[in-house]
Amino acid sequence: MVVIAGGTGVMVERNGTPADAPLLDLSRVDAFAAVDRDGPMLRLGAGVTYTQAVEALAGPLPGLAAAARTVASRQIRNRATVAGALVLADPSADALAALAVSDAEVELSRTAGVRRVAASAFVRGPGKADLAPDELVTALLVPVADGPVAYAKVGARNAMARAVCGVAVALHPARRTVRVAVVGAAPTAVRPHAAELDAAAAADWDGCSPPEADALRVFGSLVFEALGEAHSDARGSAAYRRRAASALARRALARAWGELAAEAAA
Ligand SMILES: Cc1cc2nc3c(=O)[nH]c(=O)nc-3n(C[C@H](O)[C@H](O)[C@H](O)COP(=O)(O)OP(=O)(O)OC[C@H]3O[C@@H](n4cnc5c(N)ncnc54)[C@H](O)[C@@H]3O)c2cc1C
Repeated sequence: MVVIAGGTGVMVERNGTPADAPLLDLSRVDAFAAVDRDGPMLRLGAGVTYTQAVEALAGPLPGLAAAARTVASRQIRNRATVAGALVLADPSADALAALAVSDAEVELSRTAGVRRVAASAFVRGPGKADLAPDELVTALLVPVADGPVAYAKVGARNAMARAVCGVAVALHPARRTVRVAVVGAAPTAVRPHAAELDAAAAADWDGCSPPEADALRVFGSLVFEALGEAHSDARGSAAYRRRAASALARRALARAWGELAAEAAA
């Protein structure tokens, strides 16, 4: 029995081969597409699609909405689920960056009980998710954003392309912290902690002014350093991924600060 949600992964894998295992379609279970408040988190049912993320969740989850906006085409976004992307364990999934930067968790259910796992730990490597054969992903628990989140991505072309790498940057002005997550450069999402700490320490939290060029350069080089283990494949060499991630990180940090400064000036 194969579980199917949006089918954009399952059906691609099945293409051209005789259907062997029967499909268990979760897409018509209403509870799977529900979004509920759970304390400081939003609980997204495993059936929540990218279109839902873009159209209904941009306020509380701007990072997920920004990442979802870059996924594929409208037709794919209407069907594909955020949880499905995690189960496929694509280390360059756009949503993984948004979930990792916000310390989101995956809720896994089986008849014996429920457990939660950090989204970044759930994706263990290409095609390897931390999911037992008798478990279903039932929800994603995502903390409501307390500041701007920006996402920048580079792919082989500008539309309908998976990320060669992508970077999410979240600002938390009340806590004076910065979080960064890079996807596509390693077997799972990377949080470059030295870059996070440097960006927080260098930030003008009181004046709310965006970082200067020098600070952006240092930030970018710390992201570059954190990706020493970047991998190479036909879509990009390790050197390219490190340089691209460094440039995307600078761009995303500047964009997030631009939003914060605009909010402060309004
Ligand atoms: C043309 C195209 C372009 C794409 N472009 C992008 C892109 O730009 N960026 C990007 O990040 N991704 C991209 N993708 C990948 C896409 O995001 C994923 O295919 C999608 O998110 C998977 O979700 P789904 O609901 O369709 O999963 P399905 O195909 O239904 O399922 C995928 C896998 O997850 C399992 N599964 C699904 N739901 C559950 C559950 N609740 N519990 C347990 N197991 C479950 C299934 O059994 C299957 O193994 C693209 C895909 C296509 C086809």
